[in-house]
Amino acid sequence: MTERTGNTLEIPIRIDANRTGTYFTVPFQVPADVERLTVEYRYPRFEFEPGSAANGTFEFRTERNIIDLGLIGPDGRQLGASGSDKNAFSISETESTPGYCRAAIVPGEYRILVGAYRVQPEGVDVLYTVRFDLKSRRLFLGDLHVHTLASDGVHTAAELALKAERNGLDFVAITDHNQTVGRSELTAFETDGVTLLPGVEWTNFAGHANFLGAERDFEIGFAVNTEAEVRERFRAAKAAGLLIGINHPFDENVPFKFDLSALPYDYLEVWNGPMRTANQRAIALWHRLLCAGERIPAWGGSDYHRDTIFRFLGGPTVGVYAESRGRQDLLTAIRNGAGFITFEPSGPTVDFSVGDARIGGCAVSDGNLTVRLSLERLRAGDIVRIVTATETIDALVADNDGSARLDFPLETSGFVRVETLRSLVPGLPPLPVLISNPIWVV
Ligand SMILES: [Zn+2]
Ligand SMILES: [Zn+2]
Repeated sequence: MTERTGNTLEIPIRIDANRTGTYFTVPFQVPADVERLTVEYRYPRFEFEPGSAANGTFEFRTERNIIDLGLIGPDGRQLGASGSDKNAFSISETESTPGYCRAAIVPGEYRILVGAYRVQPEGVDVLYTVRFDLKSRRLFLGDLHVHTLASDGVHTAAELALKAERNGLDFVAITDHNQTVGRSELTAFETDGVTLLPGVEWTNFAGHANFLGAERDFEIGFAVNTEAEVRERFRAAKAAGLLIGINHPFDENVPFKFDLSALPYDYLEVWNGPMRTANQRAIALWHRLLCAGERIPAWGGSDYHRDTIFRFLGGPTVGVYAESRGRQDLLTAIRNGAGFITFEPSGPTVDFSVGDARIGGCAVSDGNLTVRLSLERLRAGDIVRIVTATETIDALVADNDGSARLDFPLETSGFVRVETLRSLVPGLPPLPVLISNPIWVV
């Protein structure tokens, strides 16, 4: 009888000796919002009998029962098998025990594959324990704009995944110029610690845009000649569920020249590579759009091709609050603007709330709201700014390195967002080291 306690199922079964040499399955139900599934099993495998010899005592060990383990998904696909070698395994979209594949855990009926290789004459009791780790909002660091040698970068996606892991990143979007690395190919390059988001940098002579989530080779044909064709291409990408970001709108070499107001898009890349005038103009454009009532998230990316003096993987880094490190959960959080941009992987981080709303969410104003701010990895002297449509307030100057908490009354509606500035080079004015997405206030 299956028994459920919290997020754990206990499934005891008895295997009679006449099932020796057969396979069968034991079904169990998986609920929604599970990130990781773990199956353990126990049974009396060995019988021990004391023995003795001239120099001491020992135990005879006889293998009485051998039960093999495997798992079958709701669609009938075998997700892995481990013979009698392992007494537990885990599966999730981003990590799995060797012998089992990485797979998103969907609600439905899974089946434990039981292989009754050896069963003692009186039968054997086997206890399966199934544990569900539920998804939960937490911070993941990544880079949304990276090239491989499929276009003009010098690294393979596999090298970038390793490099990202060593740089302290959790995910990287692969965005080659007009080239899409296939989803399955990217999956093979992922490490257990880094998710690779499939994407493409749509590259036109008059502007660049990220299409994230593109999963098939050359899914987005790039060759267009008129504004009408550009609009048609963006609409097709949107209809296909891709996430569209307008890249480096004021880049010194390739500014975005198409009419933004006529195009559907999901975010603005306001921070591309090192902080400079082109980025500050993009931040100013974004701020004007927010003030005009547009709900557009801002994100950034290193546009990394190869190591140069100012460009490195994770410069800047995006901090995304997502339900898991799975591709879909990351893309959903990016679409919602749930996070911030920080200047390097170890740069400052922020989380804040207004009422029940978190970054990227929407709060309803009752005229008496408080912004609850929590920052980590500050440096002494960092200036924390609260920015609304009507005000920019220096709310805090950090006394020490480390974290800071701050409650701040919010008097205006529209939106509220956070910036942090730091003197990176002595003698020069402080530069932004962190820019958050807003909480919208209605
Ligand atoms: Zn570009
Ligand atoms: Zn690029």
